[in-house]
Amino acid sequence: MANGSITFIQGKLDFKGVLLDKTYPQIAILTDSNTYRHCYPQLKDSLPAHEVFQVPAGEEHKNLDTCQLIWQRLTELNFDRHSLLLIVGGGVLGDMGGFCAATYKRGIDFMIMPTTLLAQVDASVGGKVGIDFLHFKNHIGVFCEPKSTIINTSFLKTLPERELRSGFAEVIKHCLISDSLMWQSVRAKSLGQLDWEPLVRHSVQFKKSITDQDPKEKGLRKILNFGHTIGHALESYFLAEGNRIFHGEAIAMGMVMEAFIACEKKLISPQELEEITAYLIQIFEKQEMPWGDSALIQLTKQDKKNKGNEILMALPTGIGRAKWDIIVSEDELEKSFDYYRSL
Ligand code: NAD
Repeated sequence: MANGSITFIQGKLDFKGVLLDKTYPQIAILTDSNTYRHCYPQLKDSLPAHEVFQVPAGEEHKNLDTCQLIWQRLTELNFDRHSLLLIVGGGVLGDMGGFCAATYKRGIDFMIMPTTLLAQVDASVGGKVGIDFLHFKNHIGVFCEPKSTIINTSFLKTLPERELRSGFAEVIKHCLISDSLMWQSVRAKSLGQLDWEPLVRHSVQFKKSITDQDPKEKGLRKILNFGHTIGHALESYFLAEGNRIFHGEAIAMGMVMEAFIACEKKLISPQELEEITAYLIQIFEKQEMPWGDSALIQLTKQDKKNKGNEILMALPTGIGRAKWDIIVSEDELEKSFDYYRSL
């Protein structure tokens, strides 16, 4: 298998014959407390001899301390450079496990089995791995493709509904920036009626086509940031306030406000804005919008994708299309906050 290959599987897993195309002398399975309980039991009988590592679940553990635990276990077990780390978990584990594998003895193979919707449609595609550092998200990291990614949507059955909904924001984003027909078909069903397998495939194909063309985010890949400039600012704002908002909930708010800015710039029509807003509010409900506009503007200005003092956004240019690096003024930002409050 070429590095970065993505395989979809349904039903019984066949690691020994199909999913592992070479023999590894040592294999470790990296899980967190939830994926150890819900996902590992579905795999363990199909795996060759292996060790299991379990780390605590949650973003607050995506840090150097947990990396140290992983590197320490690999070292104590004498894992050499020909060994494999198989990561069974959500985006936290994929990012952190991938980073540990990419750096252990200058890099060992790793494979990812993403177990959350967010990890399946987003975090496991595109080769970004890393950890949080000093309260900055994904501050330390590298680009490194896994040997392969194996997606099985049956893992989603045990995912808490709020986590599922959070990952769904990225599916919606992919439809809005790339495929108006898919957007219409998604919109026609309730969350409970959606068939995840084709939706995940669609999202993965789209994200992979973008990241293959622009792996280091020089241009085209920035299109994936629709909703994320304001969304990330909101995530940081809520984090500082001690109020956790899920990533997808913040991105959904960000998409509403950024769609408003697109409408102000006449990139989308008022009807399209209304369609996007109504659907996102129906799925995610209206969230509390903080009043600290100047703090939010400052946070928006810190976005990694900005240049100098200019706020740059990826915005839709119709449903199913988008452009990146569009300059947005503070005034437009403030109006978009007021628009969300007025809903
Ligand atoms: P997560 O990994 O913390 O998983 C969410 C929760 O669900 C955790 O408590 C986890 O233990 C639990 N869980 C996972 N799978 C389960 C299952 N099948 N059944 C029951 N519980 C399960 O969070 P996430 O939302 O998957 O990922 C968020 C992370 O992804 C963030 O750190 C973010 O920075 C990262 N991310 C990375 C990229 C990238 O390109 N590398 C892109 C987007 C997000």
